[in-house]
Amino acid sequence: MKVLISTDIEGVAGVFHPQQTRAGNPEYERARVLMTHEANAAIAGAFDAGADEVLVNDSHGDFRNMPPDLLDERARMVMGKPRYLSMMAGVDQGVHAVCLIGYHSRAQGRGILAHTINSFAFARVLFNEQELGEAGIYGALAGEYGVPVVMASGDDAFIEEHRPLLPHAVFVQTKRAIGQTSGISLSPAQARSAIRAGVAAGLAQRAAARPLVLATPLAVRVQTQTPALADLFCQWPSLQRLAAVEVGFDAPTVQAAVRMLNCLSAMSAVLR
Ligand SMILES: [Zn+2]
Repeated sequence: MKVLISTDIEGVAGVFHPQQTRAGNPEYERARVLMTHEANAAIAGAFDAGADEVLVNDSHGDFRNMPPDLLDERARMVMGKPRYLSMMAGVDQGVHAVCLIGYHSRAQGRGILAHTINSFAFARVLFNEQELGEAGIYGALAGEYGVPVVMASGDDAFIEEHRPLLPHAVFVQTKRAIGQTSGISLSPAQARSAIRAGVAAGLAQRAAARPLVLATPLAVRVQTQTPALADLFCQWPSLQRLAAVEVGFDAPTVQAAVRMLNCLSAMSAVLR
C-alpha cells in the first residue's frame, strides 16, 4: 500500500494567527515544526496500518515549510513549487489513499484561518454551483485519479464543512474554532497521538472509501476579493466577467480547474 499525506499548516494544533503561517518571523519557525511533527504522526500511522511506501507533500505557501531533516526518514518528500498538482502532488505516483493533515475551512467559513487557496485573491470558489474549500477541490483532484481521501485533520469547522463531501473519511479534530484567529487547541502531543490513530483507522477502512468524483466538465465560478482582481483575471482571454467581483470559466477536468485557479492566484501577486 502506497499512501500520500498532504500537509497544510492552518489546521495544525497550536496555530491560530497569520504570522504563524508566513515565513520571516519566529512564530512561523515554531509553527513549521509543529506542522512537521503532525506530518510525522501521520507517517507513523500509515506505517502502523501496513503501508509499504509513504509520500508526504508540503502543501502550504511556497511548499517548503517542513525541514527535511525533521521528517520521518521512512517517508519520501514532495516539496517546492510550481507544480501542477499543487496540494495533491504525488497522487499520480500510484498511491492508494490520501490523508489531509492541517487542513482548514473554506473562505467565508467560520474556522480558524479559513481561506480557499489564496486569501488575498479569492472570496469564494464554486465548482458546478457547489462551494468548495481546499479539501473539496483537492479531494476531487485525488478522485480524478481514483484515489479516496481516507483521513483528514483540522478544526471543528473544517470537519463540519467536509464530512458531507468525504463521508468515508476518518476526521481528527485538532482544535475548536472560537473565531478566525482564536480557538481551543489540543496539546501538540495529544493532536499527534490522535492523528497517528486516525490515519491508521482511515487506512484500515480504505476498502470501503469511495473517491470524491465531480461531474465534468466543470463550471467554475470565483468570487474575487476586489473588482480590481476580477479586472486582472479577465486579462485571461477565456475568462468571463460575471459581475464586479465574479469571474467564471469552464474546465474539462478538476486538474484543469486547479491549474487555472493556481494561475489566477499567481497573477494576483501583481496587485498585492
Ligand atoms: Zn496553508
